[in-house]
Formats: sequence, structure tokens, C-alpha cells
Amino acid sequence: MPQTIEGIEGKVVLITGASSGIGEATARLLARRGAKVVLGARRTDRLEKLAAGIRAAGGQAEFQKLDVTDREQVEGIVRFAVSKFGRLDAVVNNAGLMPLSPMEALKVEEWDRMIDVNIRGVLYGIAAGLPVFKKQGFGQFVNLSSIGGHAVFPTAAVYCATKFAVRAISEGLRQESTAVRVTNISPGVTESELAETISDEQTRKGMDEFRKVALPAESIAKAIAFAIEQPDGVDVNEIIVRPTASAH
Ligand code: NDP
Repeated sequence: MPQTIEGIEGKVVLITGASSGIGEATARLLARRGAKVVLGARRTDRLEKLAAGIRAAGGQAEFQKLDVTDREQVEGIVRFAVSKFGRLDAVVNNAGLMPLSPMEALKVEEWDRMIDVNIRGVLYGIAAGLPVFKKQGFGQFVNLSSIGGHAVFPTAAVYCATKFAVRAISEGLRQESTAVRVTNISPGVTESELAETISDEQTRKGMDEFRKVALPAESIAKAIAFAIEQPDGVDVNEIIVRPTASAH
């Protein structure tokens, strides 16, 4: 049975949504610090390049195609991680999308999609990882919420609802857990491809202004690394990271 590891070196970390933005930056940073990273997303061409880059720099990375709305695929990538590396130290439930719009635009399919990826995807990650963590007697979930999980903004009602849900799920799981660590990360505006999912023209224009002060994705990766590197008895529950110049 695997034993706990202190720090980051040697830890096996599964990252969902690793093909761009925060997930990609987290994969690079953790791999640089000696973690064995397992990358999941739908765009495998991106994952292949990322894994090759990590390996070329002396790190260890594996990848598998993943749609987090498919429970079997989420279970499959957890099995893949354990079969490749013999243990699983952390699952970073990062995959998400943010097609903002006013509610009266009735973009119901986008609401459904956010619920499926941002909430169900996180729950499937927990459902797949928890039995492994229970068996090992340790493990950590790092769930990506948002500043939108702490406050609601116009055009962001459904997105914020999904991120409030991620916080509630993280907090509930934390309270029930004695051996499994649970970290909720709430980024403010960060450089990534997230705003590209906005189909509402007017909302997208407003977002361009808001995103001018965006943090580099590595700032969030560093917060994730901070939570992972703590000793097993230390559970960093909540980190909010905003650009200094951002009010929201
Ligand atoms: P990106 O759009 O750059 O990355 C999102 C990632 O999620 C991509 O790798 C995408 O990969 C993946 N993804 C989307 N749908 C699925 C799916 N069904 N199955 C598997 N993977 C999926 O945005 P960010 O890096 O910004 O987003 C990462 C997380 O951070 C999200 O949860 C987001 O809500 C949160 N966040 C981001 C903020 C920001 O300002 N950037 C602020 C607050 C929170 P692929 O398309 O290849 O599947």
C-alpha cells in the first residue's frame, strides 16, 4: 500500500481540463517540481504536446482523452493514473466553462452545459477518486471554484451558481473527511481560453474590458502547488487569488 509523501516530488496528480489555461499551467509547474502528472481533456493533440514538453524537460506525464461529463471516462482516467504510477495523491477538478449571458437570452443549452461540466464533472471526479483515497488512507481534491463562487454578477447567474455549488461540495466533503484533504481554489480573472466560450456578443465585449488586468495562469498554479505541498495533516481549505488591480 502506498505511503503518504510530503511535498510535491513523487506525488501523482490527475488534472482535468489540462489542455489550456490554469490546468496546463498547473501541469507544467507540478511536473517541474517532480510530480507525476496525469492529464485529461478532450483536445488530445494539446495534451500530447504538453506531455511531450514536460518529458523533454525531464518530467513525467501521461495523458488520456477525457470528457468529464462522462462518468465512465472519469473513472477510466483514475484507473489509468493508478495503473501507470501505482498511486494517486491528488485530483485537480479543474475542467470548466463560462458561457456568460443575461438570463433573458435564455441560452438554456449553455446553462445545461455549465451544470454538466462545472458541477457534474467535479462530482464525477470525486466519485472516481474517493474510493482510491479511502483505500490508500490519504488523498486530496483540489476543486476549481471562482470569485464567482463567492459573489454573483449580472450575466453570470448560472456560472456563479455552478461555482457556489463547487464550494458547497468542497466544504461538505471536507467536513465528512478525516483522511482526505479538500481544497477549494477561487481565482479572480486569469489569462486562459475561458472567455472564448461566451457566445453572447454584448457580454463578450464587457468581458474583454474586465479581463485586461488578468493574472497569468501560473499564479493559480502556484496556489494549487501551495495546497498540495503541505504535510498530510494540513488541509488548506480555501484560497482566493485576485489581480491586485481588480475590485471583483
Ligand atoms: P480554459 O478554457 O483555458 O480551460 C478549461 C479547460 O477545461 C480546458 O482544458 C478544456 O479542455 C477543459 N474542458 C472543458 N470542457 C470539458 C469537458 N467536458 N471535459 C473535459 N475537459 C473539459 O479556462 P481556465 O483555465 O480559466 O479554466 C479552468 C478552471 O478555472 C475552470 O473551472 C474555470 O471556471 C476556473 N476559473 C477560471 C477563471 C479565469 O478567469 N480564467 C476565474 C475563476 C475560475 P478541452 O476543451 O480540451 O476539453
